[in-house]
Amino acid sequence: MSRAERGAERIVNAPKGLDDDAVDRTVRRRVAVGLDAVAVRYGDTVALRDCTFEVARGETVALLGPSGSGKSTALKAIAGFEQVSSGTVTIDGRDVTRLSPAERGIGIVVQSYALFPHMSVRGNVAFGLKSRRAERSSIRPRVDEVLRMVGMEEYADRLPKQLSGGQQQRVAIARALATRPDVVLLDEPLSALDAGMRKDMLGELQRLRSELPDVAMVYVTHDQSEALALADRIAIMRDARLESLGRAEDLFHRPPTEFTATFLGGADVLEMTDVHPDGAGLRGSYGDTALRTARSAPGGDGRVGFAVRPWAWRFVRTAPSNGVEVTVEQEQWRGAVRHVTARVLATGQKLGVDVPVLVDAPLKAERLWVEADPADVMVVPL
Ligand code: ADP
Repeated sequence: MSRAERGAERIVNAPKGLDDDAVDRTVRRRVAVGLDAVAVRYGDTVALRDCTFEVARGETVALLGPSGSGKSTALKAIAGFEQVSSGTVTIDGRDVTRLSPAERGIGIVVQSYALFPHMSVRGNVAFGLKSRRAERSSIRPRVDEVLRMVGMEEYADRLPKQLSGGQQQRVAIARALATRPDVVLLDEPLSALDAGMRKDMLGELQRLRSELPDVAMVYVTHDQSEALALADRIAIMRDARLESLGRAEDLFHRPPTEFTATFLGGADVLEMTDVHPDGAGLRGSYGDTALRTARSAPGGDGRVGFAVRPWAWRFVRTAPSNGVEVTVEQEQWRGAVRHVTARVLATGQKLGVDVPVLVDAPLKAERLWVEADPADVMVVPL
Protein backbone atom coordinates (compact mmCIF):
# COMPACT_ATOMS: atom_id res chain seq x y z
CA MET A 1 0.00 0.00 0.00
CA SER A 2 1.37 3.46 -0.90
CA ARG A 3 1.72 6.26 1.63
CA ALA A 4 -1.16 8.06 0.00
CA GLU A 5 -3.39 5.03 0.34
CA ARG A 6 -2.37 4.55 3.95
CA GLY A 7 -3.13 8.18 4.65
CA ALA A 8 -6.42 8.08 2.82
CA GLU A 9 -7.42 4.99 4.75
CA ARG A 10 -6.86 6.84 8.00
CA ILE A 11 -9.24 9.69 7.35
CA VAL A 12 -12.86 9.83 6.38
CA ASN A 13 -13.68 11.17 2.94
CA ALA A 14 -10.05 11.59 2.02
CA PRO A 15 -9.81 14.29 -0.64
CA LYS A 16 -9.33 12.73 -4.04
CA GLY A 17 -6.47 13.58 -6.36
CA LEU A 18 -3.93 14.76 -3.77
CA ASP A 19 -0.31 13.70 -3.96
CA ASP A 20 1.34 11.77 -1.10
CA ASP A 21 2.64 14.79 0.76
CA ALA A 22 -0.65 16.67 0.48
CA VAL A 23 -2.51 13.67 1.89
CA ASP A 24 0.01 13.39 4.72
CA ARG A 25 -0.40 17.08 5.53
CA THR A 26 -4.19 16.75 5.42
CA VAL A 27 -4.08 13.74 7.70
CA ARG A 28 -1.83 15.52 10.18
CA ARG A 29 -4.06 18.60 10.25
CA ARG A 30 -7.18 16.54 10.69
CA VAL A 31 -6.05 14.06 13.33
CA ALA A 32 -7.64 14.99 16.66
CA VAL A 33 -6.91 11.85 18.70
CA GLY A 34 -4.00 9.49 18.21
CA LEU A 35 -3.20 6.27 20.03
CA ASP A 36 0.13 4.71 19.18
CA ALA A 37 0.89 1.22 20.53
CA VAL A 38 -0.96 1.95 23.76
CA ALA A 39 -1.06 -0.70 26.48
CA VAL A 40 -2.82 -0.53 29.86
CA ARG A 41 -2.33 -3.00 32.69
CA TYR A 42 -4.24 -3.45 35.93
CA GLY A 43 -1.80 -5.49 38.01
CA ASP A 44 -1.48 -8.76 36.12
CA THR A 45 -4.45 -8.08 33.83
CA VAL A 46 -3.60 -6.61 30.46
CA ALA A 47 -6.74 -4.59 29.70
CA LEU A 48 -5.46 -3.09 26.44
CA ARG A 49 -2.53 -4.16 24.29
CA ASP A 50 -0.78 -2.56 21.34
CA CYS A 51 -3.71 -0.31 20.47
CA THR A 52 -3.13 2.05 17.54
CA PHE A 53 -5.73 4.20 15.83
CA GLU A 54 -6.53 7.79 14.98
CA VAL A 55 -9.70 9.84 15.01
CA ALA A 56 -10.03 12.78 12.63
CA ARG A 57 -11.73 16.07 13.37
CA GLY A 58 -15.41 15.77 12.61
CA GLU A 59 -15.24 12.00 12.75
CA THR A 60 -17.03 9.60 15.10
CA VAL A 61 -15.24 6.35 15.86
CA ALA A 62 -17.22 3.76 17.83
CA LEU A 63 -15.35 1.29 19.99
CA LEU A 64 -17.55 -1.78 19.78
CA GLY A 65 -17.02 -5.14 21.42
CA PRO A 66 -18.20 -7.55 24.06
CA SER A 67 -18.02 -6.78 27.75
CA GLY A 68 -14.44 -6.85 29.06
CA SER A 69 -12.83 -6.39 25.63
CA GLY A 70 -11.03 -3.17 26.60
CA LYS A 71 -13.33 -0.46 25.19
CA SER A 72 -13.63 1.60 28.36
CA THR A 73 -9.95 1.17 29.06
CA ALA A 74 -9.10 2.65 25.65
CA LEU A 75 -11.40 5.58 26.39
CA LYS A 76 -9.86 6.09 29.82
CA ALA A 77 -6.41 6.09 28.26
CA ILE A 78 -7.50 8.92 25.93
CA ALA A 79 -9.16 10.82 28.79
CA GLY A 80 -6.20 10.36 31.11
CA PHE A 81 -8.17 8.46 33.76
CA GLU A 82 -5.79 5.52 33.40
CA GLN A 83 -2.02 5.72 33.09
CA VAL A 84 -0.82 3.84 30.04
CA SER A 85 1.96 1.35 30.69
CA SER A 86 3.42 1.91 27.22
CA GLY A 87 2.61 3.83 24.06
CA THR A 88 1.62 7.40 23.29
CA VAL A 89 -1.63 9.35 23.33
CA THR A 90 -1.90 12.57 21.33
CA ILE A 91 -4.64 15.19 21.19
CA ASP A 92 -4.47 17.61 18.25
CA GLY A 93 -0.89 16.50 17.64
CA ARG A 94 0.20 17.21 21.23
CA ASP A 95 1.64 14.36 23.29
CA VAL A 96 -0.69 14.18 26.32
CA THR A 97 0.40 10.77 27.60
CA ARG A 98 1.62 12.13 30.92
CA LEU A 99 -0.95 14.93 31.32
CA SER A 100 -3.84 14.87 33.79
CA PRO A 101 -7.42 14.63 32.48
CA ALA A 102 -8.02 18.34 33.15
CA GLU A 103 -4.99 19.27 31.04
CA ARG A 104 -6.25 17.35 28.00
CA GLY A 105 -9.28 19.56 27.29
CA ILE A 106 -11.68 16.76 26.51
CA GLY A 107 -15.46 16.56 27.01
CA ILE A 108 -16.65 13.35 28.62
CA VAL A 109 -20.09 11.75 28.89
CA VAL A 110 -20.54 8.58 30.93
CA GLN A 111 -23.35 6.09 31.36
CA SER A 112 -24.34 7.26 34.85
CA TYR A 113 -24.60 10.99 33.88
CA ALA A 114 -22.46 11.90 36.94
CA LEU A 115 -24.21 15.22 37.52
CA PHE A 116 -23.72 17.08 40.79
CA PRO A 117 -27.02 16.39 42.63
CA HIS A 118 -27.07 19.60 44.66
CA MET A 119 -26.44 21.86 41.65
CA SER A 120 -29.05 23.08 39.17
CA VAL A 121 -28.84 22.14 35.52
CA ARG A 122 -27.31 25.54 34.86
CA GLY A 123 -24.79 25.05 37.67
CA ASN A 124 -23.78 21.66 36.35
CA VAL A 125 -23.25 22.94 32.83
CA ALA A 126 -21.37 26.03 34.05
CA PHE A 127 -19.09 24.00 36.31
CA GLY A 128 -16.39 23.25 33.75
CA LEU A 129 -16.35 26.83 32.50
CA LYS A 130 -16.01 28.20 36.05
CA SER A 131 -13.25 25.82 37.00
CA ARG A 132 -11.37 26.92 33.89
CA ARG A 133 -11.86 30.50 35.01
CA ALA A 134 -13.77 31.47 31.90
CA GLU A 135 -14.69 35.13 31.83
CA ARG A 136 -17.78 35.61 34.01
CA SER A 137 -19.84 37.44 31.40
CA SER A 138 -19.22 34.69 28.84
CA ILE A 139 -20.48 31.84 31.03
CA ARG A 140 -24.21 32.45 31.00
CA PRO A 141 -24.57 32.87 27.21
CA ARG A 142 -22.48 29.75 26.61
CA VAL A 143 -24.54 27.71 29.10
CA ASP A 144 -27.74 28.89 27.42
CA GLU A 145 -26.29 28.03 24.03
CA VAL A 146 -25.36 24.44 24.88
CA LEU A 147 -28.62 23.87 26.77
CA ARG A 148 -30.42 25.02 23.63
CA MET A 149 -28.34 22.59 21.56
CA VAL A 150 -29.60 19.66 23.61
CA GLY A 151 -33.16 21.03 23.95
CA MET A 152 -32.94 21.64 27.71
CA GLU A 153 -33.08 25.44 27.99
CA GLU A 154 -36.44 25.31 29.78
CA TYR A 155 -35.03 23.11 32.52
CA ALA A 156 -32.06 25.28 33.47
CA ASP A 157 -33.16 25.86 37.07
CA ARG A 158 -34.13 22.30 37.93
CA LEU A 159 -32.09 19.89 39.99
CA PRO A 160 -30.95 16.62 38.38
CA LYS A 161 -33.40 14.56 40.48
CA GLN A 162 -36.29 16.53 38.91
CA LEU A 163 -35.32 15.23 35.46
CA SER A 164 -35.83 11.93 33.61
CA GLY A 165 -32.82 9.78 32.75
CA GLY A 166 -32.84 11.01 29.16
CA GLN A 167 -32.99 14.63 30.28
CA GLN A 168 -30.12 14.10 32.72
CA GLN A 169 -28.06 12.62 29.92
CA ARG A 170 -28.80 15.69 27.76
CA VAL A 171 -27.49 17.88 30.57
CA ALA A 172 -24.39 15.70 30.84
CA ILE A 173 -23.84 16.14 27.10
CA ALA A 174 -24.34 19.92 27.38
CA ARG A 175 -21.82 19.98 30.21
CA ALA A 176 -19.30 18.08 28.10
CA LEU A 177 -19.74 20.52 25.20
CA ALA A 178 -19.72 23.74 27.25
CA THR A 179 -15.95 24.24 27.14
CA ARG A 180 -15.87 23.74 23.33
CA PRO A 181 -13.63 20.67 23.45
CA ASP A 182 -12.10 19.37 20.21
CA VAL A 183 -12.64 15.83 21.44
CA VAL A 184 -15.73 14.34 23.10
CA LEU A 185 -15.64 10.87 24.62
CA LEU A 186 -18.89 9.02 25.27
CA ASP A 187 -18.88 5.83 27.36
CA GLU A 188 -22.10 3.81 26.87
CA PRO A 189 -24.11 7.05 27.13
CA LEU A 190 -27.44 5.41 26.32
CA SER A 191 -27.23 2.16 28.23
CA ALA A 192 -28.93 3.42 31.41
CA LEU A 193 -31.97 4.58 29.44
CA ASP A 194 -35.09 2.59 28.61
CA ALA A 195 -35.62 1.44 25.02
CA GLY A 196 -37.87 4.32 23.89
CA MET A 197 -35.63 6.96 25.40
CA ARG A 198 -32.58 5.30 23.84
CA LYS A 199 -34.07 5.64 20.39
CA ASP A 200 -34.89 9.31 20.94
CA MET A 201 -31.41 10.04 22.27
CA LEU A 202 -29.79 8.23 19.36
CA GLY A 203 -31.64 10.60 17.03
CA GLU A 204 -30.57 13.54 19.20
CA LEU A 205 -26.93 12.49 19.05
CA GLN A 206 -27.11 12.20 15.26
CA ARG A 207 -28.53 15.72 15.05
CA LEU A 208 -25.97 17.07 17.51
CA ARG A 209 -23.17 15.44 15.53
CA SER A 210 -24.07 17.51 12.48
CA GLU A 211 -23.89 20.69 14.59
CA LEU A 212 -20.32 19.92 15.64
CA PRO A 213 -18.43 19.52 12.36
CA ASP A 214 -14.97 19.94 13.91
CA VAL A 215 -15.38 17.79 17.00
CA ALA A 216 -13.87 14.30 17.09
CA MET A 217 -16.01 11.79 18.95
CA VAL A 218 -15.10 8.43 20.41
CA TYR A 219 -18.16 6.42 21.34
CA VAL A 220 -17.92 3.27 23.44
CA THR A 221 -20.78 0.80 23.10
CA HIS A 222 -21.55 -2.90 23.13
CA ASP A 223 -24.63 -2.21 21.01
CA GLN A 224 -23.96 -2.62 17.30
CA SER A 225 -27.05 -0.66 16.24
CA GLU A 226 -25.73 2.43 18.08
CA ALA A 227 -22.33 2.00 16.45
CA LEU A 228 -23.83 1.58 12.98
CA ALA A 229 -26.16 4.56 13.45
CA LEU A 230 -23.54 7.00 14.74
CA ALA A 231 -20.06 5.98 13.69
CA ASP A 232 -18.13 6.89 10.56
CA ARG A 233 -15.69 4.17 11.48
CA ILE A 234 -16.00 1.28 13.90
CA ALA A 235 -13.18 -0.23 15.93
CA ILE A 236 -14.07 -3.80 16.88
CA MET A 237 -12.44 -4.73 20.19
CA ARG A 238 -11.77 -8.28 21.33
CA ASP A 239 -9.72 -9.60 24.26
CA ALA A 240 -7.93 -6.29 24.94
CA ARG A 241 -7.01 -5.87 21.26
CA LEU A 242 -8.22 -3.85 18.32
CA GLU A 243 -9.55 -6.62 16.07
CA SER A 244 -10.71 -4.57 13.05
CA LEU A 245 -11.02 -0.91 12.21
CA GLY A 246 -12.84 0.42 9.21
CA ARG A 247 -15.75 2.33 7.78
CA ALA A 248 -18.99 1.03 9.27
CA GLU A 249 -20.30 -0.05 5.85
CA ASP A 250 -17.08 -1.82 4.92
CA LEU A 251 -16.89 -3.79 8.16
CA PHE A 252 -20.53 -4.74 7.86
CA HIS A 253 -20.53 -5.77 4.19
CA ARG A 254 -16.94 -7.02 3.91
CA PRO A 255 -15.91 -8.12 7.41
CA PRO A 256 -12.15 -8.72 7.47
CA THR A 257 -12.22 -11.36 10.22
CA GLU A 258 -14.49 -14.16 11.41
CA PHE A 259 -15.06 -12.41 14.74
CA THR A 260 -16.07 -9.16 13.03
CA ALA A 261 -18.51 -11.04 10.78
CA THR A 262 -20.17 -12.71 13.75
CA PHE A 263 -20.08 -9.80 16.20
CA LEU A 264 -21.21 -7.07 13.78
CA GLY A 265 -24.43 -8.24 12.18
CA GLY A 266 -24.47 -11.75 13.55
CA ALA A 267 -23.29 -13.93 10.65
CA ASP A 268 -22.70 -17.66 10.85
CA VAL A 269 -19.41 -18.74 9.35
CA LEU A 270 -19.26 -22.00 7.40
CA GLU A 271 -15.80 -23.53 7.23
CA MET A 272 -15.19 -24.36 3.58
CA THR A 273 -12.93 -26.93 1.96
CA ASP A 274 -11.70 -27.30 -1.60
CA VAL A 275 -12.30 -23.61 -2.37
CA HIS A 276 -11.54 -22.52 -5.92
CA PRO A 277 -12.36 -19.61 -8.25
CA ASP A 278 -15.75 -19.71 -9.90
CA GLY A 279 -16.25 -16.88 -12.38
CA ALA A 280 -15.76 -13.65 -10.41
CA GLY A 281 -16.44 -15.48 -7.14
CA LEU A 282 -15.58 -18.71 -5.36
CA ARG A 283 -16.97 -22.19 -5.02
CA GLY A 284 -16.21 -24.62 -2.22
CA SER A 285 -17.43 -27.66 -0.35
CA TYR A 286 -19.35 -27.64 2.88
CA GLY A 287 -20.62 -30.92 4.35
CA ASP A 288 -22.10 -32.90 1.45
CA THR A 289 -22.79 -29.93 -0.77
CA ALA A 290 -21.15 -27.19 -2.83
CA LEU A 291 -21.69 -23.52 -2.04
CA ARG A 292 -20.94 -20.45 -4.11
CA THR A 293 -20.22 -16.83 -3.37
CA ALA A 294 -20.12 -13.94 -5.82
CA ARG A 295 -17.33 -12.40 -3.71
CA SER A 296 -13.65 -12.92 -4.29
CA ALA A 297 -11.07 -14.37 -1.91
CA PRO A 298 -9.87 -12.11 0.95
CA GLY A 299 -6.20 -12.33 -0.06
CA GLY A 300 -3.61 -14.75 1.23
CA ASP A 301 -4.03 -18.42 0.50
CA GLY A 302 -5.16 -19.68 3.88
CA ARG A 303 -8.45 -21.34 4.77
CA VAL A 304 -11.64 -19.39 4.20
CA GLY A 305 -15.13 -19.41 5.62
CA PHE A 306 -18.35 -18.34 3.95
CA ALA A 307 -20.25 -16.01 6.25
CA VAL A 308 -24.01 -15.61 5.91
CA ARG A 309 -26.24 -13.28 7.88
CA PRO A 310 -29.60 -14.46 9.26
CA TRP A 311 -31.57 -12.30 6.85
CA ALA A 312 -29.73 -13.68 3.81
CA TRP A 313 -31.02 -17.25 4.23
CA ARG A 314 -34.41 -18.36 2.85
CA PHE A 315 -36.21 -21.60 3.68
CA VAL A 316 -37.11 -23.71 0.65
CA ARG A 317 -38.77 -27.11 0.21
CA THR A 318 -36.68 -28.40 -2.66
CA ALA A 319 -32.91 -28.76 -2.90
CA PRO A 320 -31.61 -25.30 -3.94
CA SER A 321 -28.59 -24.50 -6.10
CA ASN A 322 -26.84 -22.64 -3.26
CA GLY A 323 -27.92 -23.96 0.11
CA VAL A 324 -27.84 -26.70 2.74
CA GLU A 325 -30.38 -29.14 4.15
CA VAL A 326 -31.46 -28.29 7.69
CA THR A 327 -33.86 -29.14 10.48
CA VAL A 328 -35.55 -26.47 12.56
CA GLU A 329 -34.50 -26.51 16.20
CA GLN A 330 -36.07 -23.45 17.70
CA GLU A 331 -38.11 -20.42 16.79
CA GLN A 332 -38.18 -17.08 18.51
CA TRP A 333 -40.57 -14.28 17.65
CA ARG A 334 -38.67 -10.97 17.55
CA GLY A 335 -41.35 -8.60 16.34
CA ALA A 336 -40.72 -7.99 12.65
CA VAL A 337 -38.92 -11.32 12.21
CA ARG A 338 -39.08 -14.84 13.50
CA HIS A 339 -35.55 -15.86 14.39
CA VAL A 340 -35.13 -19.53 13.60
CA THR A 341 -32.27 -21.73 14.75
CA ALA A 342 -31.69 -24.31 12.03
CA ARG A 343 -29.25 -27.21 12.27
CA VAL A 344 -27.36 -28.32 9.16
CA LEU A 345 -28.01 -32.05 8.66
CA ALA A 346 -24.59 -32.88 7.21
CA THR A 347 -22.42 -31.05 9.75
CA GLY A 348 -24.56 -30.36 12.81
CA GLN A 349 -23.70 -26.63 12.67
CA LYS A 350 -26.39 -24.25 13.89
CA LEU A 351 -27.43 -21.36 11.64
CA GLY A 352 -29.51 -18.32 12.55
CA VAL A 353 -32.24 -17.59 9.99
CA ASP A 354 -34.51 -14.54 10.14
CA VAL A 355 -37.89 -15.03 8.54
CA PRO A 356 -39.97 -11.88 8.05
CA VAL A 357 -43.21 -12.48 9.99
CA LEU A 358 -45.27 -11.67 6.91
CA VAL A 359 -43.57 -14.45 4.94
CA ASP A 360 -45.21 -17.81 5.27
CA ALA A 361 -42.05 -19.92 5.32
CA PRO A 362 -42.45 -23.70 5.11
CA LEU A 363 -40.92 -24.61 8.48
CA LYS A 364 -42.88 -27.84 8.89
CA ALA A 365 -42.03 -29.55 5.59
CA GLU A 366 -40.64 -33.09 5.57
CA ARG A 367 -37.34 -31.94 4.10
CA LEU A 368 -36.10 -28.35 4.40
CA TRP A 369 -33.21 -26.37 2.99
CA VAL A 370 -31.93 -22.87 3.48
CA GLU A 371 -30.53 -21.06 0.48
CA ALA A 372 -28.60 -17.83 0.02
CA ASP A 373 -27.97 -15.59 -2.97
CA PRO A 374 -24.23 -15.89 -3.83
CA ALA A 375 -24.05 -12.06 -3.67
CA ASP A 376 -24.99 -12.22 0.02
CA VAL A 377 -22.37 -14.84 0.92
CA MET A 378 -19.35 -13.07 2.44
CA VAL A 379 -15.84 -14.52 2.54
CA VAL A 380 -13.66 -14.36 5.65
CA PRO A 381 -10.18 -15.73 6.30
CA LEU A 382 -10.03 -18.42 9.01
P1 ADP B 1 -15.14 -3.08 28.31
O1 ADP B 1 -15.25 -1.61 28.42
O2 ADP B 1 -14.91 -3.55 26.90
O3 ADP B 1 -16.29 -3.81 28.95
P2 ADP B 1 -12.91 -2.77 30.11
O4 ADP B 1 -12.01 -1.86 29.36
O5 ADP B 1 -13.74 -2.16 31.19
O6 ADP B 1 -13.83 -3.56 29.08
O7 ADP B 1 -12.07 -3.93 30.77
C1 ADP B 1 -11.04 -4.64 30.08
C2 ADP B 1 -10.42 -5.65 31.03
O8 ADP B 1 -9.78 -5.00 32.12
C3 ADP B 1 -11.42 -6.61 31.67
O9 ADP B 1 -10.80 -7.86 31.76
C4 ADP B 1 -11.67 -6.01 33.01
O10 ADP B 1 -12.04 -7.01 33.94
C5 ADP B 1 -10.32 -5.41 33.36
N1 ADP B 1 -10.42 -4.22 34.23
C6 ADP B 1 -11.09 -3.09 33.94
N2 ADP B 1 -10.95 -2.18 34.94
C7 ADP B 1 -10.16 -2.77 35.89
C8 ADP B 1 -9.63 -2.35 37.17
N3 ADP B 1 -9.87 -1.12 37.64
N4 ADP B 1 -8.87 -3.24 37.83
C9 ADP B 1 -8.60 -4.46 37.34
N5 ADP B 1 -9.04 -4.91 36.15
C10 ADP B 1 -9.83 -4.09 35.41
